[in-house]
Amino acid sequence: MKKTIALIAHDGKKADMVAFVKDHIEDLKQGHIIATGTTGSYIQQTGLEVELKLSGPMGGDAQIAALAAEGKVHGIIFFRDPLGKHAHEPDIQMLMRISDLYNVPLATNVATGTLIIKGLL
Ligand code: PGA
Repeated sequence: MKKTIALIAHDGKKADMVAFVKDHIEDLKQGHIIATGTTGSYIQQTGLEVELKLSGPMGGDAQIAALAAEGKVHGIIFFRDPLGKHAHEPDIQMLMRISDLYNVPLATNVATGTLIIKGLL
Protein backbone atom coordinates (compact mmCIF):
# COMPACT_ATOMS: atom_id res chain seq x y z
CA MET A 1 0.00 0.00 0.00
CA LYS A 2 1.21 3.50 -0.80
CA LYS A 3 2.40 5.57 2.13
CA THR A 4 0.63 8.88 2.60
CA ILE A 5 2.88 11.88 3.13
CA ALA A 6 1.47 15.29 4.08
CA LEU A 7 3.26 18.42 2.89
CA ILE A 8 2.65 21.82 4.48
CA ALA A 9 4.60 25.05 4.17
CA HIS A 10 3.98 28.48 5.59
CA ASP A 11 4.14 31.39 3.17
CA GLY A 12 7.78 32.22 3.92
CA LYS A 13 8.72 28.61 3.19
CA LYS A 14 6.63 27.79 0.13
CA ALA A 15 9.50 28.40 -2.28
CA ASP A 16 11.66 26.08 -0.16
CA MET A 17 8.93 23.44 -0.31
CA VAL A 18 8.67 23.65 -4.10
CA ALA A 19 12.46 23.28 -4.38
CA PHE A 20 12.35 20.35 -1.95
CA VAL A 21 9.63 18.62 -3.98
CA LYS A 22 11.60 19.09 -7.20
CA ASP A 23 14.67 17.57 -5.53
CA HIS A 24 12.72 14.50 -4.41
CA ILE A 25 10.02 14.22 -7.05
CA GLU A 26 10.82 10.67 -8.14
CA ASP A 27 10.65 9.39 -4.53
CA LEU A 28 7.51 11.40 -3.82
CA LYS A 29 5.78 9.85 -6.85
CA GLN A 30 5.98 6.51 -5.02
CA GLY A 31 3.69 7.83 -2.28
CA HIS A 32 0.23 9.33 -1.93
CA ILE A 33 0.83 13.02 -1.36
CA ILE A 34 -1.61 15.31 0.41
CA ALA A 35 -1.09 18.99 1.19
CA THR A 36 -2.77 22.05 2.63
CA GLY A 37 -4.52 24.03 -0.11
CA THR A 38 -2.11 26.77 -1.03
CA THR A 39 1.01 24.70 -0.51
CA GLY A 40 -0.56 21.99 -2.65
CA SER A 41 -1.40 24.34 -5.50
CA TYR A 42 2.25 25.40 -5.63
CA ILE A 43 3.38 21.79 -5.55
CA GLN A 44 1.05 20.89 -8.43
CA GLN A 45 3.11 23.18 -10.63
CA THR A 46 5.98 20.68 -10.33
CA GLY A 47 3.80 18.02 -11.98
CA LEU A 48 3.51 15.93 -8.81
CA GLU A 49 0.03 14.57 -8.16
CA VAL A 50 -1.28 16.04 -4.88
CA GLU A 51 -4.56 15.68 -3.03
CA LEU A 52 -5.49 19.14 -1.80
CA LYS A 53 -6.97 19.70 1.63
CA LEU A 54 -8.32 23.03 2.82
CA SER A 55 -5.95 25.93 3.14
CA GLY A 56 -4.15 25.90 6.50
CA PRO A 57 -5.93 28.92 7.97
CA MET A 58 -9.27 27.41 6.89
CA GLY A 59 -8.69 24.08 8.65
CA GLY A 60 -6.25 22.20 6.43
CA ASP A 61 -3.80 21.49 9.28
CA ALA A 62 -6.72 20.19 11.34
CA GLN A 63 -7.79 17.89 8.49
CA ILE A 64 -4.29 16.46 8.25
CA ALA A 65 -4.13 16.05 12.03
CA ALA A 66 -7.42 14.13 11.98
CA LEU A 67 -6.11 11.79 9.28
CA ALA A 68 -2.90 11.25 11.28
CA ALA A 69 -4.99 10.35 14.34
CA GLU A 70 -6.82 7.77 12.21
CA GLY A 71 -3.54 6.22 11.08
CA LYS A 72 -4.03 7.47 7.52
CA VAL A 73 -0.94 9.71 7.35
CA HIS A 74 2.47 8.08 7.64
CA GLY A 75 4.71 11.13 7.60
CA ILE A 76 4.35 14.90 7.78
CA ILE A 77 6.76 17.42 6.29
CA PHE A 78 5.90 20.81 7.68
CA PHE A 79 8.16 23.73 6.76
CA ARG A 80 7.17 26.29 9.34
CA ASP A 81 8.04 29.93 9.06
CA PRO A 82 10.05 30.64 12.21
CA LEU A 83 9.48 34.37 11.78
CA GLY A 84 5.76 34.48 11.06
CA LYS A 85 2.77 34.71 13.38
CA HIS A 86 -0.29 32.71 12.40
CA ALA A 87 -3.94 33.07 13.32
CA HIS A 88 -4.27 29.28 13.15
CA GLU A 89 -1.43 28.64 15.63
CA PRO A 90 -3.71 26.40 17.75
CA ASP A 91 -4.20 24.09 14.74
CA ILE A 92 -0.45 23.99 14.12
CA GLN A 93 0.16 23.04 17.75
CA MET A 94 -2.57 20.42 17.52
CA LEU A 95 -0.98 18.85 14.45
CA MET A 96 2.33 18.56 16.28
CA ARG A 97 0.62 17.17 19.40
CA ILE A 98 -1.23 14.56 17.34
CA SER A 99 1.97 13.50 15.59
CA ASP A 100 3.60 12.95 19.00
CA LEU A 101 0.55 11.18 20.37
CA TYR A 102 0.39 8.71 17.47
CA ASN A 103 4.12 8.52 16.79
CA VAL A 104 3.83 9.88 13.25
CA PRO A 105 7.18 11.18 11.94
CA LEU A 106 7.07 14.96 11.51
CA ALA A 107 9.85 16.94 9.85
CA THR A 108 10.18 20.70 10.00
CA ASN A 109 13.16 21.30 7.73
CA VAL A 110 14.87 20.02 4.60
CA ALA A 111 17.30 17.76 6.48
CA THR A 112 14.62 15.87 8.42
CA GLY A 113 12.20 15.99 5.50
CA THR A 114 14.79 14.15 3.43
CA LEU A 115 15.06 11.50 6.14
CA ILE A 116 11.29 10.97 6.10
CA ILE A 117 11.32 10.48 2.35
CA LYS A 118 14.28 8.11 2.47
CA GLY A 119 12.73 6.20 5.36
CA LEU A 120 9.18 5.86 4.09
CA LEU A 121 9.20 5.91 0.28
P1 PGA B 1 -1.53 26.72 3.08
O1 PGA B 1 -1.53 26.38 4.62
O2 PGA B 1 -0.73 25.68 2.39
O3 PGA B 1 -2.98 26.67 2.67
O4 PGA B 1 -0.94 28.09 2.96
C1 PGA B 1 -0.33 26.18 5.31
C2 PGA B 1 -0.49 26.63 6.71
O5 PGA B 1 -0.46 27.86 6.92
O6 PGA B 1 -0.64 25.81 7.61
